[in-house]
Formats: sequence, structure tokens, C-alpha cells
Amino acid sequence: MRAEIIAIGTELTTGQTVDTNGPWLSQRLAELGISTAFHTIVADEVADIVEALRIATARVPLVLISGGLGPTQDDLTREALALAAQVSLVEDPIALEHIRTFFSSRGRSMPERNRVQALRPENAELLPNPMGTAPGLFMHLGQAMIFAMPGVPRELQVMFQEQVRPRLLLADRRTGGVIVFRKINTFGLGESAVEEKIADLTVRGRNPEVGITVSDAVVSLRIIARYPTFAEAQAQINATESLIRQRLGDVVYGVEEEELEDQVVRLAQEAKTTLATAESITGGLVAHRICRVPGASQYFQGAIVAYSEESKHRELDVPWDLLRTHGAVSAPVALAMAEGARRRFGVDIAVATTGFAGPTGGTPQEPTGTAYVALVGPQGTEIVRQVWSGERTEVMSRTAKLALNLIRLHLLKLSAK
Ligand code: AMP
Ligand code: MG
Repeated sequence: MRAEIIAIGTELTTGQTVDTNGPWLSQRLAELGISTAFHTIVADEVADIVEALRIATARVPLVLISGGLGPTQDDLTREALALAAQVSLVEDPIALEHIRTFFSSRGRSMPERNRVQALRPENAELLPNPMGTAPGLFMHLGQAMIFAMPGVPRELQVMFQEQVRPRLLLADRRTGGVIVFRKINTFGLGESAVEEKIADLTVRGRNPEVGITVSDAVVSLRIIARYPTFAEAQAQINATESLIRQRLGDVVYGVEEEELEDQVVRLAQEAKTTLATAESITGGLVAHRICRVPGASQYFQGAIVAYSEESKHRELDVPWDLLRTHGAVSAPVALAMAEGARRRFGVDIAVATTGFAGPTGGTPQEPTGTAYVALVGPQGTEIVRQVWSGERTEVMSRTAKLALNLIRLHLLKLSAK
């Protein structure tokens, strides 16, 4: 079965509120083996809602609606449903009683405005709302089933689980099946370079399906498996994940919400290796990310944020000569910073960052967005140069990830020894 989700609200179309109900419902539908074909967001305009309902019911057999069931004048879902179905609205005595009780149990009398929440298109069934006053609606329109739920996320979620889900299970016994997702995170190769290595897996129509997304220099592979049982889906996802790991090797650093720093701390624990950072362009971000991981304190010794040339010299012993000859944004200075931090903190591995974050700065040779990351450790020295596009905070954040990745790769070499 394919579904469409319609989120209703002018706060959504104007961008003041981000639609979270749509994605939440998609995930729940996926668990039932129902794929969402369309997400639609409509303003609180009755003609537009009717139009959206016409389009949706003509193209999919299941339509889920969020929002527009409140008591105020901009809550138009009931009216739009009645118009689209060309039926009248009737007052439901049981719903009216529920709303009255909702208020009286809180020691208040029902405002007259709330009375509209007891209205339903005459062919609709009301869905109880244990969390609030707005009942949901269930009806057929053309060939489609429609469920309308309140916009308040907590109310929508309870109503979906208690009222909508059981009805969907009954209606969709035949197709059954489940959809299971997994996200594999990579760092160090661009999107197209990653795709080149796994083009046979990202081909359309494959099951499990593999999609590629990029966010802040992290390229993630999303595996989606559709199978009759959870066990089968799980087994097929595992097989696809193994193939991805074979092809991409240590470019893969984690799954789901795992971050580079989680691996850094885990590997440092395994190898009993101490760490420190010397940071210019990242302003302490590398240290911050490491410190977010529980257990970091045993292995992470500290950071020196040396932003000015003066402090690079004074705190990290970077020779003035080097700064004058090569400039602060250069491989030799990055390396000297890392060496300084390693000596000052007495650690096994030190990493250093320097660069031009923008929006100004940079030279013809080292344009804005240039970053150097240097590492000194038991396996020797590494220096990488990268020119990022993106604005200041993006350049900083990506350079921090570059540094964390360099530590991760160095620790991997250590544990392979
Ligand atoms: P409504 O049922 O349209 O009166 O919505 C009530 C409240 O729920 C709104 O004021 C929003 O704060 C919230 N809300 C409505 N729709 C959504 C949505 N799609 N995603 C997240 N929050 C929503
Ligand atoms: Mg609304």
C-alpha cells in the first residue's frame, strides 16, 4: 500500500514550525510495510486543503492528515473533508460529551468555540483523543481511506498508535511485510567517489535499496530493506552492510548516530593511547567533540587553543622563523603546533589545526576555506590539506571532523600492529 501524508497549517507553510508529524508518521507506516509516496504541506486555506485532498485521494489509497482539528477559525480540516466528500457536517453527541467532560474534569466549563470540535462529516467515524479535545476522523473518500489527526505531536502519536495503526493492520492484512533501515556513515571520500565504489548497490530497484546523502562532510549510506519478515530484512541489511564495508574499508567509521569522536575515544581506550589537541581554526571544537564522549577523560589530556601567531609561538613553541617564512596557515606550522602540543602535554598523539575559515583572509596560494591538519603519533607524522567550500562555521566544523578522522585512522594503524 502507498500513502500520502498531508500536514496542514500556515505555521508550516510559512516556515515558522518545522513539520515533524510527517516524518514521524512515515516511519510508523514503514514499520507496517506501507511506503509514503507523497508528503504534502498545505496552509490553513479551505480551498487549498480541498484541492490537496482531491489530488491525494486520486493517486493513493491511504491518506493521513495532521492538523487543523483545533477549535479556532483557522482549523479547517473538518470543513474541507465535508466539502471534498460533498456531505454535510453533523454534531456528534458523544464527542460533545467528551469535550465537556475534558473541561469539567479540569474545573472549567467548555468554551462555546470548542463545540465545533464535535462536528464530523456525516460519513466519518470519530477517533477518540485521550490527550486533548480534538477528536480524529476516519472516513472514505473516493477509493481512499482517510485518517485525520490533531497537529499536536503528542496527541497525534497516541491517536495513531491506539486508533489508526490497528485499523491499518486490519485493512492491510494481505500485503504485510516490513521495512527496516540502517545508516552507514563514512568520512574522507566525496559523494560521487563513494558512489563509484558501490554503483551496483545504489542501482534503482535493488532490494535492499542503498541511497547516499551528505551532511557536513559526512557521506552516509541509507540501506532500506523491504521483506516479509523482520528477520529476513535484518539478514539482508547485514549482507549489504558487509559489501559496503568491503568496498569502502576504513572510510566507514560508524552506523546510525555514531560520530567520529565515538570511534576516537573507543580506539584510544583499546590502544591505551593519550591524546591532546592544538587548535587554531577550530577554536577548541576538536577537544569539545572528544570531551562529549563518556570516558574521554582517561585518554584525553587537554587542548591549547592558539589563535594568534604570538600564542602559537608562546604556548606551542612554534618558531618565529617558521611563522614568518610560511605563514600561520601552512603545513610546517601545523606540524610544529602538533609537535608542541605533544611535548607540552606529554601525550602519545597530538593533532593540530590551522586555516582560513573566512569570510575574509586567505592568499592566492591558500584561499579562504583552506585548512591544514597535522598529527604526530607513534606511527609517525601525517599532514593533510583541504580546501573547503562553505561558510565560516561549516569550515570550522568540517576541519574538526578532518582532525578527528586523522586521529581515528592513526589509532586504527596502531591497533592493526
Ligand atoms: P492544529 O491541530 O493544527 O491546531 O495544531 C496544533 C499545534 O500543533 C500547532 O500550533 C503546532 O504547534 C503543532 N503542529 C501542528 N502541525 C504540526 C506538524 N506537522 N509538525 C509539528 N507540529 C505541528
Ligand atoms: Mg493549525
